[in-house]
Amino acid sequence: MSGILLVDDRSENLLALEAILEPLGHRLVSATSGDEALRHLLKDEFAVILLDVQMPGLDGFETAELIKRRERTRHVPILFLTAISKEPQHVFRGYQTGAVDYIFKPFDPAILRSKVAVFIELHEQRQELARRDEALRREELAALEAESEERYRSLADAMPQIVWTAGPDGVANYVNEGWVVYSGLSLEETAHDGWLTTLHPDDLARTTALWEEALSSGRLFETEYRIRRADGAYRWHLARSLPAYSPDGEVAGWVGTCTDIDDRKRAEDAQALLVEASAVLGSSLDYRRTLAQVAQLAVPSIADWCGVHVLEDDGSLRELAVVHADEAKVKFAVELQERYPPDPEDETGVPQVVRSGRPELVPDVTDEMMVAAARDELHLDLIRELGIRSWMCVPLTARGRTLGAISFVAAESGRRYEKSDLRLAEDLARRAATAVDNAQLYRQAEERAQAARVLASVGDGVFMVDGEGVIRLWNPAAEAITGLQLQSVLGRPAAEAIPGWAEVGIRIPVAAAPGPTAPRSETLPLELAGRELWLSIAGVAIDDGVVYAFRDLTEERVLERMKTDFVATVSHELRTPLAAIYGSAMTVRRRDIELDDDVRMRLLDVIADESNRLAEIVNDLLLASHLDSGELQVSIERCDPRELVESVLEAAATHLPESITLALKAPDAVPWVAADRGQLRQVLVNLVENAIKYSPDGGPVEVELEEAGQMLRFAIQDHGLGIPESERTRIFEKFYRLDPNMTRGIGGTGLGLYICRELVRRVDGRIWVEPRRGGGSTFVLEVPLADPHLRPARPRRRRRKSPARR
Ligand code: ADP
Repeated sequence: MSGILLVDDRSENLLALEAILEPLGHRLVSATSGDEALRHLLKDEFAVILLDVQMPGLDGFETAELIKRRERTRHVPILFLTAISKEPQHVFRGYQTGAVDYIFKPFDPAILRSKVAVFIELHEQRQELARRDEALRREELAALEAESEERYRSLADAMPQIVWTAGPDGVANYVNEGWVVYSGLSLEETAHDGWLTTLHPDDLARTTALWEEALSSGRLFETEYRIRRADGAYRWHLARSLPAYSPDGEVAGWVGTCTDIDDRKRAEDAQALLVEASAVLGSSLDYRRTLAQVAQLAVPSIADWCGVHVLEDDGSLRELAVVHADEAKVKFAVELQERYPPDPEDETGVPQVVRSGRPELVPDVTDEMMVAAARDELHLDLIRELGIRSWMCVPLTARGRTLGAISFVAAESGRRYEKSDLRLAEDLARRAATAVDNAQLYRQAEERAQAARVLASVGDGVFMVDGEGVIRLWNPAAEAITGLQLQSVLGRPAAEAIPGWAEVGIRIPVAAAPGPTAPRSETLPLELAGRELWLSIAGVAIDDGVVYAFRDLTEERVLERMKTDFVATVSHELRTPLAAIYGSAMTVRRRDIELDDDVRMRLLDVIADESNRLAEIVNDLLLASHLDSGELQVSIERCDPRELVESVLEAAATHLPESITLALKAPDAVPWVAADRGQLRQVLVNLVENAIKYSPDGGPVEVELEEAGQMLRFAIQDHGLGIPESERTRIFEKFYRLDPNMTRGIGGTGLGLYICRELVRRVDGRIWVEPRRGGGSTFVLEVPLADPHLRPARPRRRRRKSPARR
C-alpha cells in the first residue's frame, strides 16, 4: 500500500497532520526537513507528499524541485502547506515547482483529508492501470513468444536435418522430430548423456572431448561422427553446434544440427579404399598375398569381416584370407571354417556365388537364414556367435572366368548393406580379379618366355609337328643344324618342308607322353642341301602333336670314320718304314751273302732314314696332341723369312725327285716376320714337302714371298694333283686326307695341314689354299710383319729332312 509523506520542520504540525490523516488508513511517514524527506523518497514509494514551504535548510520549493528532478518521484503529487505566502507570485512559484495544490494554514482538517484522499485514489488508480498494462503486455509477449517458438519448432521438425537446443550446461531441452525418428530416442532419453549412447564406439572419445571443450570455451562445436539409427545402422553425420548469447554476453544455450553426410562419406571412403586396393593389387604379382591385403583394407572401412575364397584347380574352394579386427575372432572363424568347410555344391553362400558368377546381397540376415545355413545345432550356435547382421558376396571374375569370391560381413558395427555397398564390393572384386588374372597371365607368359629362351639356347634342334603334320615350332638350333630357315618351314607340312622326312618320319620313335626317362632315339641320315646329315632324333607326343628333338651326329660320324681311316693309314705309314728297316737289317745281318761296303752303307742309310721317318710320324702325333691340349709353347721373335725359306728349300733339294724343280721368288728386301722360328719352319717344310709329294708327275715347285699390308705372304705353288673346291677347308682338319685309301700310293697321316693351321693361328697368321690355273695348288700363308723392337731369332742348326715317301 502506498504511503503519505508529511514534511514539516515543526513536530506539532506533523502531529496535527498525522491526526487529521490517520482516518484515511494509509501509512504515514513524517520528515522534519527537506533532506529527510528526500531520503524517505529514495527508499520508499509515496502516493502523495505534503510539504511545508517555510523550513530551515532546504525550503519546500527547493525540496519540491529536487523531487521533480528525479524520474522515479517526478509524478508524485505535492501539496504545499503554508502559513504566510498567499501572494500570487509566491503561489505561482509553488505551482511552477510542481505543486498540485496549496493549502493555507490553519487548514480545515476535513478539506485536507478529502484532498489527500482524492490524490491517493488517483495514485492508486494510476497504479492499477499500470499494473493492468504490464499484465497485458506480458500476456501479449507470451503469446507472441509461444507463436514464434511454435513456428520455429514446426520449422525445425520439418527439416530433414537433426536439430536440437540445449541449456548453457549443454543438456538438451529440445530435439526435433528428425532426431526422434532417426534415433528412436525422446527428449528425456536424449538429454544429459543419452545422446552419447547413439555414437559409434570409435567416435565416442573424440566427440566427448570436443563437446566438453566447446562447453567450457563457449566456442563453435563442429565434427563428424557416426550416429546409430533406430534400426541399429550407423550413419555418418556432420554435427555443428553454436552457442546462443544472452544480452549480457553470457552463453544462454546451444543450438545444434546434425546433417547426414553418410553417402558422401561412404563415397569418399569407397574411393579411398579403391585407390588403396588398386595400389596394393598392383604392388606384387603374388596375388594370394595382395588379395589378403585387400581383405585387410576392407576391415573396418566397409565390413567387420572380410573373407577371400579362391577356386583351386581341383574345383575345391580354399579360404585365402579371413580378416576381423579381433585376432581371437579370426581364430574362431578359421576353426569354424575348418570344421565346417564350404561344400562346393551348396545352394547358398560363397559356393553359389562362385558357381553362378553372380553377386549376392542379404541386407538383413534373419535367424531363418542362419538356421538354413547351419549344418547342425552346434554350427548354428557358432554362426550366431559371430553376430552376422548383413552379408554380401561378390565373385572374382576376369575374362568370363570365376576365380573365387570376396565376402563382406557386417556384424557388431550394425551396418546394413545396401545396393551402393554391393556396387563398391563389385568394383573392388573386379579390380582384384583383373590383378589375379594379370598375375596368372604374366606367370604363363613368363613360363612360355622361359621355355622359348630355353628352346632358343638349347644346342639340340627342337621342332613340333601338329596333328596335321604341319611344323608349328622350329628352334634356332634346328635352323643351324639343318640349314633350313624358320620362315621356310614354319606352317608347312613337315613332309614338304624337310627333304626326306616322309621316308624317315615313320622310323622315328615317339614316346606316348613326356616323362622322366628320355625317349628312345634313332640315328638317321638326312640328305639336306647336297650334304648328308646324320641326326639322332626322338619324338614325344603332346596334346596337339609331336615334339621332336635331334642332335647332329654328322661330325661324330665323320670323326668316327676318320679315326678308322687314321688307324688304317697310320698302321700303313708305320708298317712301310718298319718293313724297310726290318728288310734292310735282315739283309745286313745275313752271313750267307757277301755285301760290298757300298750296298751295306745304303742299307744302313735306309735304316737310318726310315727310323727318322717313324720318329717324324710319332712327333707329328705328339705335336697334334699338344696343340689339342693347348700345351704347346710359342715364343715369338723376329725371323728372316728369306733365310728360312732358303734353308727349307735347301733341305728339300737333298732328296728331290728328278722331275721336280724348286725355286724362290722374292724381292730384294723382304721384311722380317714375327713368329716362332722353329714352328714357322715346320709349317714351310710341311707345305713344300706336300707340294713335292702331291706332284707325282713332277713340275716346278715355287715359293714366292710378298708383302701384303701388315703381313708377309708366302705362296707355295705346285703343278700337282690339285684339290677339289669342296675339300679346300676340310684338308686342314685333323686326320683328313683326300685319298685315305692311298689309291695313288701317296702316304701320310692327315696331320700335316692340321698342324700348319694350328701353328699359324698361334702367331695370328692365316693359311688357305687356292687352285692354280692350269692345275695344281697354291698354299698361301700370311704371317704378321715383325715389330723392329722384337728380339731377332737366332738361326737354328739345320735338321736333315727325310725323303718323301711314295
Ligand atoms: P698328309 O699329307 O699326311 O696326308 P696333310 O695334312 O699334309 O696330310 O694333307 C692333307 C691332305 O691334303 C692330303 O692327304 C692331300 O690329300 C691334300 N694335300 C695337301 N697338300 C696338297 C697339295 N700340295 N696338292 C694336292 N693335295 C694336297
